[in-house]
Amino acid sequence: MDSAPIRSAVLTGAEPLARNTNLYRFDLDVPLQFEAGQFANLTIPGATPRGERSYSMWAPPDPAGNASVEFAIQLFAGGQASDYLRSAPVGTPFELRGPYGHFTLRGDDPDHPTTAHWFLATSTGLAPFHAMLAAAARAGDPRRFRLLFGCREEQDMFGLAALDALRDRLDFAYSVCLSRPQGATRHNVGRITAHMPAADPAARYYLCGNGAMITEARELLKARGIDRKRIHHEKYW
Ligand SMILES: Cc1cc2nc3c(=O)[nH]c(=O)nc-3n(C[C@H](O)[C@H](O)[C@H](O)COP(=O)(O)OP(=O)(O)OC[C@H]3O[C@@H](n4cnc5c(N)ncnc54)[C@H](O)[C@@H]3O)c2cc1C
Repeated sequence: MDSAPIRSAVLTGAEPLARNTNLYRFDLDVPLQFEAGQFANLTIPGATPRGERSYSMWAPPDPAGNASVEFAIQLFAGGQASDYLRSAPVGTPFELRGPYGHFTLRGDDPDHPTTAHWFLATSTGLAPFHAMLAAAARAGDPRRFRLLFGCREEQDMFGLAALDALRDRLDFAYSVCLSRPQGATRHNVGRITAHMPAADPAARYYLCGNGAMITEARELLKARGIDRKRIHHEKYW
């Protein structure tokens, strides 16, 4: 049986981040304690099969627990949660269950120090990495973080100002890969898997977003000699 507590969550805002992607904010009746990278389930009335959908916390955890949570949610035509959230006014009540998941930053093994933590995200798969990076910045984490962020085109990009600010506070760099840019762009052109870093057996690789990217990136990393224990993933759909 699922023992995660249920909280009341009231929608307090939806800020547009990109075309079809909003940052949803919910106030909770009881603060939520979680680790950066974890997710929670939001009840979506009438949604099949489970009546709920999972979303990764965008903002980092507060040691005292978070009285509100934010989710970067991509809405797509015909999606059940997408349709419900698109028309949900501020004040709509939800239920939230969680936290769940083990997609969190791994500690360093003293015998095999990790040279870099590589994050590969498509679309809102950026959310757990934003939470991890913001938590690392807050803690003064000296480790090296690198991110490849895959979007379809420039109108789908979001969160870059937040990533730029994190770049000033961490050993962190990122680049965006656009799979179908419209016209000229200063970003990488092509899917993330066409822009993978040179394989480093001492790095850790974290993949989040659509299943096709995850499968392809995992196979590439393994073919390049990365131990599968150093590859972590969270598949959204
Ligand atoms: C652990 C976990 C964490 C997640 N965190 C996030 C998050 O932070 N932000 C976020 O936006 N989503 C996240 N998701 C995905 C989210 O739970 C829903 O699947 C998504 O919002 C679509 O739900 P829906 O009810 O609108 O679509 P549904 O009605 O459930 O989907 C209908 C169909 O659309 C496909 N589909 C689902 N998502 C997409 C998509 N993005 N683009 C194209 N086709 C799609 C499905 O495969 C399905 O066949 C997460 C999923 C998991 C498992």
